[in-house]
Amino acid sequence: MGVETQREKREAALTAQFSLFLTVFINSGVIYMSRFSSNPQVGTVLLCAEGGLFLSYLLSRTRFYRIGALAVLSILVIIPLFNTLLSQDHSPLAMVTLLIWNSMTIIIAAFFLSLRFSVLFYFLNLILIASFPFYVKDMDLTSIVLPLLFNGVIPFSVIILANHIKILEVKQLEDSLEINRRLERELNNKNIMEKQLLHNATHDSLTKLPNRMILQNRIGHVINYRNRHPDLLYALLFLNLDRFKNINDDLGHTEGDYLLFEVGARLKESVREQDTVTRLGSDEFVILLEEVKDPSEIFPILQRIREKLTEPMTLNDRAVHMSASVGVVVGQKEYTEPYQIIRNAAIAMDRAKKTSGFSFEFFDKNMVEKVQSKLDLESDLRQGLEREEFTLFYQPIIHTDTLAAAGFEALIRWHDSRGNFVSPGDFIPMAEETGLIIPMGYWIIEKVCRQVKIWQERHLEHPFAVSINLSNKQFQDSGFIEKVREIIERNGVDPRVLKFELTESLIVKNSRETKDQLNELREMGCQILIDDFGTGYSSLSYLHTLPIDILKIDRSFINRISDERGNIVNTIINLAHSLNMIVVAEGVETPEQFEILKEMKCELIQGYYFSKPVDAGQAGEFLK
Ligand code: C2E
Ligand code: CA
Ligand code: CA
Repeated sequence: MGVETQREKREAALTAQFSLFLTVFINSGVIYMSRFSSNPQVGTVLLCAEGGLFLSYLLSRTRFYRIGALAVLSILVIIPLFNTLLSQDHSPLAMVTLLIWNSMTIIIAAFFLSLRFSVLFYFLNLILIASFPFYVKDMDLTSIVLPLLFNGVIPFSVIILANHIKILEVKQLEDSLEINRRLERELNNKNIMEKQLLHNATHDSLTKLPNRMILQNRIGHVINYRNRHPDLLYALLFLNLDRFKNINDDLGHTEGDYLLFEVGARLKESVREQDTVTRLGSDEFVILLEEVKDPSEIFPILQRIREKLTEPMTLNDRAVHMSASVGVVVGQKEYTEPYQIIRNAAIAMDRAKKTSGFSFEFFDKNMVEKVQSKLDLESDLRQGLEREEFTLFYQPIIHTDTLAAAGFEALIRWHDSRGNFVSPGDFIPMAEETGLIIPMGYWIIEKVCRQVKIWQERHLEHPFAVSINLSNKQFQDSGFIEKVREIIERNGVDPRVLKFELTESLIVKNSRETKDQLNELREMGCQILIDDFGTGYSSLSYLHTLPIDILKIDRSFINRISDERGNIVNTIINLAHSLNMIVVAEGVETPEQFEILKEMKCELIQGYYFSKPVDAGQAGEFLK
């Protein structure tokens, strides 16, 4: 409602109240006037006036309220005239009483009426009073001085007062309008801020793309939509940039940020209007393709993404070639929650990562089972470690010429809580992946040291060594060498009894740090053994640069030693000898293999031909 109409309404209401009041108030006039005038016509005039006022009151309740107000004033002006004329007592006292009544009316009128009307009313009244002596015979100027003064000062003050009240009201109105406006402004600001906050909460600040929240929300909508329109498909692409971490480290984070922004923009260009490109964080983007009529429609989009993404980007004056791995899920009935689709797309993306260059992989159900069993294995491994479900088995290593036991290789065994035997080939890779190999590795060394102590106490006369397998990951644990040293010293074991088996992949990296660590182990008195030799990089040329004491030829060579592999084994043994290394052949299963190796002067032999890995008790028998 506008201010103008509001004011009018208020005025109309006031006028109506005023008219009603006068209608009642005039009654007192009827009584008063009758006292000063013996003329019954005075009463009639007053009654007529009252009737007029009542009509004005009715009028003032309509939209002609201003006319009603004017009519009221006119009546008020005329009544004193009539009364004075009709009254027989024109003494100053009578006049004053009459005019006081009149003034009272003005005062009240002024309170209720607008300034304009009040002033008009006031002057009419003054003129009227001042003119009394001219037409009332027994009235002179002296008899109206008092009423004039009275009418001059009091109502005028009242009008000023009334006006002042009006000004105050207007000011109040203005104030409240100002407060209103301010509130409105604040409300606006708040709305803008809320919108901004909402935007920040639902968008990624770097790429300005929607985030996971919006993605889940959209997928939720799409799932619902699909339930109603089963012929429409949708698809989710989970995209992870290849080698982003390296690029980010090489170029710096500012450029890395720019790259992500650029990728976001390119992805948006690659998809259709109705599709949603979001960033989940880091270098992971998820694209929701809506309204796919046939799965074949996904391929051109993937093609466009590949083209856009692999266009070189110039960062720090260098051309950077991006590629990505994309996991694709096509919406199916069984999806009821957004997270299921996102998870499966991520699993497919992981698969795609295994292929180099831009690659994509569609999700299939076997993937989940694999991931699930992997996760189960991980938690079982953790528990197994806590519940001491692991044991060590020992496989004897034999001197080729004397057939005496030179020592053992410690091999871990796991009987899980369900009593299943789990092969180390299955759980060691998982332990490496999760980092569990680090605590597990220390546990193995500790266990071997204790076992060595036991054997030494029982079979002091027989020298032997124990080989411990080490995973590459273990070398990454800070203070690895120090912890190993601490375990050996605490158990009071002679370090010369211990050998550590490493794979070629660790050594081939040939980093300064690894070399230092190996040298430290050697300085302590432990020996270093290279395991599975021949399967990895097989680069004979690096062998002499490394601190290695023993070379263990992989069993795949021993397997076929009687045919085509014989020459290679011979070459390896000769080379190792020329580098002052001892050779162990593992996986020796037949007497024939044993004879050939003996001929080739291979010093040590390990394999089922002599013994499978056995528990510590049985292993002790070999030392007798
Ligand atoms: P590896 O270090 O090459 O260990 C030798 C594997 O060959 C052992 O399998 C052993 O049982 C098996 N083997 C021994 N002689 C013969 C034979 O004559 N014929 C055949 N076919 N196999 C033979 P295992 O114990 O299942 O271990 C498999 C792999 O698991 C090991 O290969 C090693 O890489 C890893 N592993 C085992 N124990 C540990 C451990 O304590 N720590 C670490 N880091 N890895 C371990
Ligand atoms: Ca080994
Ligand atoms: Ca081996």
